[in-house]
Amino acid sequence: MKTMTCKQLGGACDKEFHANSFDEMAQLSKNHGMEMFQQGDEEHLEAMNKMKELMKSPDAMKDWFENKRKEFEAIPEEK
Ligand SMILES: [Zn+2]
Repeated sequence: MKTMTCKQLGGACDKEFHANSFDEMAQLSKNHGMEMFQQGDEEHLEAMNKMKELMKSPDAMKDWFENKRKEFEAIPEEK
């Protein structure tokens, strides 16, 4: 089990996500982002707009994702 925060995953708050794989982590972050989006949270909307800009370039998006995956891999496993 590893822990990353919303901010670490391109979000806007310090909410922690716990997951065993990076894909799971990305999914948790996405779900949380959608939830915040529905609540109209401004900081998350802003963070999401930045992600949208990034997504316009598939290469940049891929790099971002790979970097986050490496970050995830580097986090020590929690028991
Ligand atoms: Zn958040």
